[in-house]
Amino acid sequence: MMIKETNRIDTLLTGGTIITMNPERQVLHDAALAVHEGKILWIGDASEAESRFTAGGRVDLQGRVVIPGLVNTHGHWAMTLMRGLVDDCPLEQWLGTIWRVEAAVLSPETVVTGSELAIIEMLRSGTTCAADMYWYYPEVTETSRRAGFRIVTGPSFAEIEGFEDYRHTNQMIAIEYLDHYVDVPLVHPCIQAHSAYTTSPTTLEHVMGLVHDRGLLFVTHASESKGELELVQEKHGARPIAVLDKFGLLSERTLLAHCVHLTDEEIGRLAETGTSVAHCPSSNLKLSSGIARVADMLAQGVNVSIGTDGPASNNDLDLFHEAQLAALVQKGVTGNPKVLPAEKVFSMLTIDGARAVGLDDIIGSLEVGKSADLVVIDFNSANLTPCYDYYSHLIYALSIGDVRDAMVAGQMLMKDRQMLTLDEAATRAEANRIAREVF
Ligand SMILES: [Zn+2]
Repeated sequence: MMIKETNRIDTLLTGGTIITMNPERQVLHDAALAVHEGKILWIGDASEAESRFTAGGRVDLQGRVVIPGLVNTHGHWAMTLMRGLVDDCPLEQWLGTIWRVEAAVLSPETVVTGSELAIIEMLRSGTTCAADMYWYYPEVTETSRRAGFRIVTGPSFAEIEGFEDYRHTNQMIAIEYLDHYVDVPLVHPCIQAHSAYTTSPTTLEHVMGLVHDRGLLFVTHASESKGELELVQEKHGARPIAVLDKFGLLSERTLLAHCVHLTDEEIGRLAETGTSVAHCPSSNLKLSSGIARVADMLAQGVNVSIGTDGPASNNDLDLFHEAQLAALVQKGVTGNPKVLPAEKVFSMLTIDGARAVGLDDIIGSLEVGKSADLVVIDFNSANLTPCYDYYSHLIYALSIGDVRDAMVAGQMLMKDRQMLTLDEAATRAEANRIAREVF
């Protein structure tokens, strides 16, 4: 008797649609995806998968769609604790209040709870990798690692009262951090400066040295508001983009959050240097900072990704909502409905986002050999029925209740909308306690 040889794999997702976001932008139907040892081992027909593999775990994709996990390229996770605390004021006033609150009440413990809450919210809305710029980044990193979530973060240099550890003259924690996380799974260290208006020329020079020595991604806020342009002019005698350019901080390894106020020349310079942008429309609108020239940036070849910014200025971490807003606002302000079509916006959420944080060789698309970072969307809901165009539904019609499962590096973090690595009820209870007793 012949015994048919099949390959034993960890997980088989089978019987549904796969939106690959590979270079050919293939969308596969009645398809299956095999996951083994954290990576995508095989993608093909569901019928063929049955004869090829014996799986430890299975995910039924009937009426469901697998997409690459979304990449949130800008945020301040633990600000979940300050959601709704300071609304309806401009950036400069908002920052002044937030920094005073943060300096008075944040601790490693409260930041852990705030970050857990952020990870839960991000998984629930389809995000599996996110950048964070925040105080107590070593604690945030460990929280993310414990949850099995993928994080891009690192020291954020700034000269802000109450945060002396973040001055370049006091950088021991930063160096230890960068040494420790050189090769730790799911942790992608970067070097950050809060902004040109909170860093002196000496600090920026120091940051430039560190970025060049370590060859890491550099992240900063840039050209967010008109008030910022004035502050940077006073401090450095130039506009933010020119300041960063002067310090050699524009490159393919640079990610700039916001970029609301750019001239044609500045957009050209970002394109020329390969600098990426994290577009955060909710935060920019809510703080009345303005509307970024995304259509112009894309037309010039700038890599534009999407970020939520912190939940105290958004006020949520739902990247799908952010993408819909990005598309609608650009169509409205340009008067051109053709700009930012749904497929392009979805690529900004996935492969373009991965490129912005320097991870497009391992995440951002579903391709054999890449990490199994993926999300399953239930297309059986009323708001997604019928379906003519998957990208259209993902950007214009999806609600986050349609997000069913989330996997990072082959590990299920959310299954049937239940958190598997975090205790959601306990985290919410602790966040409520902090809000009651600390804030
Ligand atoms: Zn920000």
